[in-house]
Amino acid sequence: MAYGSQALSSNASFDPFWWRAAPREEAAPGVPPRETDVAIVGSGMTGLVAALHLARGGRKVTVLEAREPGHGASTRNAGYVGRTLKHSFGEIMEAEGLDQAKRVYGELMDAFMAVKEAVEREKIDCHYRQQGRLLLATSSAMHEAMAREFALREMHLGEPFETVTRDLQRNEIATDHYFGGVRIPDHAGLHPGLYHQGLLEAARTAGVQVCAHAPVLGFRREPRGFTVFLKGARVEARDLIFATNGYGGSAWPWLMRRLLPFQAYQAVTAPLGENRVASLLPGDRTFIDWNFNVDWMRRAPGDPTRIVFGGLTGEIDADLRVMAERLQQRLLRIFPDLSDLRFDHVWTGRCSGTFDINPRIGVQDGVHFAGGYCFAGVPMGTLFGQKLARRILGQKGGESVFDRPLETRFLYRGNAWFVPHAIRWMSRKDR
Ligand SMILES: Cc1cc2nc3c(=O)[nH]c(=O)nc-3n(C[C@H](O)[C@H](O)[C@H](O)COP(=O)(O)OP(=O)(O)OC[C@H]3O[C@@H](n4cnc5c(N)ncnc54)[C@H](O)[C@@H]3O)c2cc1C
Repeated sequence: MAYGSQALSSNASFDPFWWRAAPREEAAPGVPPRETDVAIVGSGMTGLVAALHLARGGRKVTVLEAREPGHGASTRNAGYVGRTLKHSFGEIMEAEGLDQAKRVYGELMDAFMAVKEAVEREKIDCHYRQQGRLLLATSSAMHEAMAREFALREMHLGEPFETVTRDLQRNEIATDHYFGGVRIPDHAGLHPGLYHQGLLEAARTAGVQVCAHAPVLGFRREPRGFTVFLKGARVEARDLIFATNGYGGSAWPWLMRRLLPFQAYQAVTAPLGENRVASLLPGDRTFIDWNFNVDWMRRAPGDPTRIVFGGLTGEIDADLRVMAERLQQRLLRIFPDLSDLRFDHVWTGRCSGTFDINPRIGVQDGVHFAGGYCFAGVPMGTLFGQKLARRILGQKGGESVFDRPLETRFLYRGNAWFVPHAIRWMSRKDR
């Protein structure tokens, strides 16, 4: 289809590139059972990991998904698997002390390991690779700040890093746009579509029923559990989990008032040729800058002839052709010689944050939830899915440093109109 855009190839698609290797299921609406032990709302990574562990723990589990399985951010992300949080180790250390900083970053390590373990245990063929991450500085002051932060992490957490100076960065990425960076050798990358597909298959094999096109409209607490309301149906469940992250809505107003949804955008180039991609990204890392509002890129997992590029977080534009042009301009700032650049896929997905920019896991009025991961949902969703299951199964290991009160703000009802403005303000601060 021709879109008449300078950024898009003639047959461009607005579906995630990942759906090529992991096609969406044309599932008919699922018929939910009248009764289940655990009802889980949302079939992203968080919901599926929780479902898998609960089923293996002997529970009858029903996943209720508004659209097709994996409709949300879990099949739309960049597949970066790291140990990242918007609050730096140094910042937490200063505000809350060294022990707390170690606890928080210790849990990020657990989350990082949870993905590796899930991929190995479930034998998920999703191009998981500890290829290393290069964090890039957009000023020399930022480069110095990064070096300080990672020196702290090395000292207190024993996590190795290497400083990459500006004159050596071309060994990693063929640009002078950045001011050097920091390489974290063990960070990983995967193909999100295939990771999600592997979790879905594992959950079904364990006996989980995944009901597609079954939007949850609301629920009522009962003396011995919950009644979950769907269009024309209801499910009695002993336990209830909300794993809706940025896609949640009025089904649970309490959560809607506490999570801040925002959009992020991603594109995949038309084939550039393996050699050209290798010459642009010789390091073959996952690349990301260290701004609050990040740009990121990597060689496409499973297709080394293409580059995946993302950014423009928090921007709202319903027209993905416009976003494609804006992504193209951002990529051309990094690689000015790529003037023939066209995208084959451009898409968006919804993340969520919290008012204090920390992810959360918790229970409110008997309902379990996890979310607010910002850009760390691949590891955090995997870990929190497990923790949600452990909590319901009464097993050890369900506790979390991110289980803290989840606050809202006066008059906030779930319309996070101010998030784009806040992100733009942070981008100005970045500059
Ligand atoms: C462009 C982009 C790039 C990203 N890159 C990375 C990355 O590289 N690394 C990383 O760690 N994280 C990344 N993230 C974030 C990560 O993808 C998310 O944090 C993670 O996928 C959240 O998973 P989840 O299972 O909690 O929610 P989701 O995968 O969003 O799933 C929520 C599901 O709930 C369903 N739902 C909502 N309401 C209802 C209802 N009432 N009834 C039934 N179903 C409902 C939705 O349809 C949806 O399928 C990125 C996100 C985006 C958008």
